[in-house]
Amino acid sequence: MGKKISDNIGKAFNIESMAAARNRAFAFQAQKEGRKDLARLFRAIADAKSAQARRFLGHMKGKIGSTKENLSEALENEKRALEDIYPGMAKEAEGAPWAVKKAFNQTMKVSSRHLDLFRRVTETGDSEVEATLYVCRICGYISENEVPDNCPVCHAVKGRFAEVA
Ligand SMILES: [Zn+2]
Repeated sequence: MGKKISDNIGKAFNIESMAAARNRAFAFQAQKEGRKDLARLFRAIADAKSAQARRFLGHMKGKIGSTKENLSEALENEKRALEDIYPGMAKEAEGAPWAVKKAFNQTMKVSSRHLDLFRRVTETGDSEVEATLYVCRICGYISENEVPDNCPVCHAVKGRFAEVA
């Protein structure tokens, strides 16, 4: 496969991934506005975009390995984001509006939590995460087995957590 095609596969993966995230956010907003029908449509589009992204990812050489390999890659990605990417971005956001600064700082805290979870399953050789997992829909913090009264990172109330099926 030529370089142009490989590059396009990577671009298509990025486009579909971003569209999935965007449509999921639009669904969240529609839900808040009480437009359940449109929220469902946005969620369906988001799921479809995720499927398309997954398809292109499958054509990116070496991008989907065994679960053991994927865990290791996921861990390295979190580590890189946490150590090499976000600290610089957070520093550059110091003069930005408060909410933007907060988004970068909380993303670092949440990524650190994600890294801990990946480290635990990778280092202990545990292939199973037995805990029930709840995700804060505001900041992305993951809680195990119980929903905290307030999110330890963004202080969102209990109702903002969603159980992961
Ligand atoms: Zn939160």
